Amino acid sequence: MPHELQTFLTLDQAIDAVAADFGQYGPQPDLFCKIGPLILGNDFKTGISNGVKRAWIRPNRNHPFTPVDDTALGFYFIHALETSKKNAASIAHICALVFETSVRPGVGEGRSGVWIESRMDDFVCKRCGNCCRRLENTCLREDRQLWERLGRSDILTWVKEEQLDTGEVQYRIWIDPQTGKPAESCPFLVQQPGNITFYCTIQPVKPLVCWEYPFTKKHAQHTGCRGFEVNDTN
Ligand code: SF4
Ligand code: SF4
Repeated sequence: MPHELQTFLTLDQAIDAVAADFGQYGPQPDLFCKIGPLILGNDFKTGISNGVKRAWIRPNRNHPFTPVDDTALGFYFIHALETSKKNAASIAHICALVFETSVRPGVGEGRSGVWIESRMDDFVCKRCGNCCRRLENTCLREDRQLWERLGRSDILTWVKEEQLDTGEVQYRIWIDPQTGKPAESCPFLVQQPGNITFYCTIQPVKPLVCWEYPFTKKHAQHTGCRGFEVNDTN
């Protein structure tokens, strides 16, 4: 789990992180209504279309406002952020709303960017195993190389190498070698005997994506992680 209290991102990295958030959590209408004016200014408004509250945008002052669905709006926001002049204070404000945490503009390694609080300080893993079920994820080439060096064919057999259209290779985990489909639960997740908690049988060599989960409090709350529950009885 990540325990750094703050992470620095350059402005370009921050926009990439916002795009990743949109991709991961899908349309977020309430959030989009808040960040719309920050990204598009007077070219964004909300209004009613077919009896439903929608976001409306106009490409420029010479065009009328038109309603836009939230998926398209997410792409429009990212395009606007990538192509406009970047202002650290404005990007920090947007990141604070997107990541539901405190974000301040600042400098890291001599570059302008934003400092993002992880809000992970009150995280305690409850060992519920939720993060290890219904996984559709990828591991790094470095994870795979480690398992190869260690001769861990028991792990490698659950990794599927795929060639992307871009020419890149991705390593999907955990893919059932019998069915070729994602496993319903990680094959290395085991319940503690006589207990309702779970543990990882490959803990020392588990992939980085598992070490880093959850990335943020929002990530935890959107993916069924119980690490922020306070009245846990385990
Ligand atoms: S490798 Fe370990 S931490 Fe990662 S999903 Fe499997 S059981 Fe969970
Ligand atoms: S879902 Fe959260 S609380 Fe549960 S085992 Fe995973 S990290 Fe721990």
